[in-house]
Amino acid sequence: MTDLSAGKADLVIIGGGIFGCAIAYYYSRNHPQKKIVLVERNEICGAATSRAAALITRIRSKKHFIPLSLETYRVIGELECQLGESLDTKRVGVMHVASSETNVTALQELMDIADEFNQPAEYISYEDANRMSPWLQAIEPLKIGFMQGEAYCDPYLLGTFFARCARMNGADIRQGVEALNLILDKGRVTGVSTAKGKIYAGSVIIATGAWAPLLADQAGIALPMAPVRSQYWITAKDSLYPPDSPIVLLPDAHAYARPEGGGLLFGIREKNSFSVSPKDIPRDITDFSFSPDRGIQDLSEVIDRLGRFFPKVYEAGLKYYIAGFCGYTPDNNLSMGPAPGIPNLLLATGCVGAGISVCGGVGLAFSEMAAGKPNPFDFSQFALERFGKIDPFDKEWLNQCGLARSRKTSG
Ligand SMILES: Cc1cc2nc3c(=O)[nH]c(=O)nc-3n(C[C@H](O)[C@H](O)[C@H](O)COP(=O)(O)OP(=O)(O)OC[C@H]3O[C@@H](n4cnc5c(N)ncnc54)[C@H](O)[C@@H]3O)c2cc1C
Repeated sequence: MTDLSAGKADLVIIGGGIFGCAIAYYYSRNHPQKKIVLVERNEICGAATSRAAALITRIRSKKHFIPLSLETYRVIGELECQLGESLDTKRVGVMHVASSETNVTALQELMDIADEFNQPAEYISYEDANRMSPWLQAIEPLKIGFMQGEAYCDPYLLGTFFARCARMNGADIRQGVEALNLILDKGRVTGVSTAKGKIYAGSVIIATGAWAPLLADQAGIALPMAPVRSQYWITAKDSLYPPDSPIVLLPDAHAYARPEGGGLLFGIREKNSFSVSPKDIPRDITDFSFSPDRGIQDLSEVIDRLGRFFPKVYEAGLKYYIAGFCGYTPDNNLSMGPAPGIPNLLLATGCVGAGISVCGGVGLAFSEMAAGKPNPFDFSQFALERFGKIDPFDKEWLNQCGLARSRKTSG
């Protein structure tokens, strides 16, 4: 069926990134009697999702993210079981290298959080760290924590696992269908007008990633997030980067790294992260140029802080450059939940660069809220009202969200 005219559904999800696909999976699993339609204007998981470094970080200082990520780890097994296929999650663990008193204190807090959530964590010696990750030449690490349960995955595969399972459960997932307008009536959303006709719905979820403020604006919601560019590089192959070596977080360098295809994938937080109005992002970013020099100017501004830990970076040979837009907020908390004043409109947005990690919990939470059930997770820190009155298209707001990414030290 290509025509959506006068279609009716219990739930319409707009956007087929990892959030939209995860919600479709949980809703179709938990509410099999209900009709669900997901519309994606391009191909599913082709925007931010397929570009992620896909660290599935569980243990973080922002504790309210952790139950969401724990659910991601749980659901991966469930999806693999349903499909009879492996996601090939790389459970290599994560090393936190703290090289300043501030980050030693932060690391101790993280180790305590790991303990609180029953996740294995231990301090290791520099020699052990260097044996696992020979590229790591930290000359001044004060403390290194190792959490062996942490992992990364192929984000496109995870997103499409959700979508395929949702389809098997009866979800109607349409690609090449753009949502043009929300249909609103007497303070409620009653459906979505798409390029292929109108579809009426009991609930609507906006899961349109970097573009979300545009549809939210139609409902009078000033969505507190801004698209901010994330970027990373992958080096040429070298025996310094064993494929089974851990993820490494370098908070003093505002950087992270993990093995990829025989090389090292590494990301940095720029001095001035680039933010942009959602109005200025093309509808399809497949051929979009995120940086004319493939991020080299940004990298050169911070390379010396990375070079302290990864001296080889200066001569590593950068083979690939990957970038995309994520929805950031000034406090680096997710920005999601019910639309203020419109209870049947929900926003699964503002991923703050952690959407792969938290997708399980986000999928479950929105599935339940859309079905009129309580949210099993605490979303109080993610509330859309928390910044008061803002203008998501204003330059000053965009700058604040960019700065939040520059400050980020976690994975
Ligand atoms: C370089 C980079 C590195 C990252 N690393 C990590 C990491 O290590 N760990 C981690 O957890 N996260 C990471 N992320 C973040 C992660 O990729 C995102 O949090 C996640 O993909 C967000 O998913 P989403 O579904 O919200 O958005 P998207 O994947 O962008 O999906 C939104 C979809 O909505 C569609 N859409 C928009 N408007 C409409 C419309 N009007 N009608 C229909 N469809 C529409 C778009 O086409 C798109 O497919 C990274 C991101 C980038 C860019």
